[in-house]
Amino acid sequence: MNILILVRNMVAANDDRESMYFGIARLVDTPEELWHGEVWAESVLCCSGHFAFFNDGNPVFPSDCIIYSCPIHATSCRSGSVHYGCVRRIYIDDRMESLTNGQKVCIIEPIVFAATIAPPYINIIPNDYKNANNMILIEDGLQTISTDLLISPLVDIQFDNVTSPLVTEQTLVVNYILISKKLHLCQFQLSTPITAELEMNYFGQQFLINCYKPGTGLKLSVPLMLFIDEFRVHQNMYHSFTGFYLTLACLPHFERTHQVNAHPITLGPHGTCLKDIIPIIETGFKSFMHTGMQLPLGNSD
Ligand SMILES: [Zn+2]
Repeated sequence: MNILILVRNMVAANDDRESMYFGIARLVDTPEELWHGEVWAESVLCCSGHFAFFNDGNPVFPSDCIIYSCPIHATSCRSGSVHYGCVRRIYIDDRMESLTNGQKVCIIEPIVFAATIAPPYINIIPNDYKNANNMILIEDGLQTISTDLLISPLVDIQFDNVTSPLVTEQTLVVNYILISKKLHLCQFQLSTPITAELEMNYFGQQFLINCYKPGTGLKLSVPLMLFIDEFRVHQNMYHSFTGFYLTLACLPHFERTHQVNAHPITLGPHGTCLKDIIPIIETGFKSFMHTGMQLPLGNSD
């Protein structure tokens, strides 16, 4: 089976593109579509080149470390007007009651100095870690801020004590993550990477910026969703049906649930060994999984 041809046909069949969504994820009160979700908001590739920016015009991506102005400094925050953080997700704010409605917003995981953390959290931090440049990332201390409050990238920071020649005495080090609700400290290396971090490790940040540069033609990202159904109800030790279905994630829910838009890749016939099927599908996906694939957009550019 040639997955490339299947995907090309799926996109071509929805060529009017009127119902498809392209761009930055939307932060809404009641999420319904895939572009309201966290996976979309944590990715660079899903955004069709619609980025958020620092005030100087440079793009900011999920997983970037940044310096930002505190949105609640005037009222309730006592830890200074400037904070450090890691961008977890980027959205356009569509929440009805939100003060940042209509603006691009970043969801930030704060990074704070280990020595300045308040009790009771300070008690679970190892004593030898409470040194000048050692920091803690607070996983559940998420703060939503408008991109207007971003000051600059935080470059001189490293995660997980990797011995790097670039480390100086000023370099900030993050070895631990605090989950404050559980009063739990875990090593940074045990955390889940952000999708954008994986994308940038593979492509390089500059490649992604250049790829969508103005003047290089309109490029639309079409994320794919692979759905695997085991049909457990119908399964017994003789019969197994495992279905792999591919849909375009940029279609709205009511379109994705139309039978015509759910493309079966395979329906394992009775007794077929899954171990035989998966490598065949895998080969097809691997041919464009990392690099993506570029398709002409038909009548428009
Ligand atoms: Zn603050």
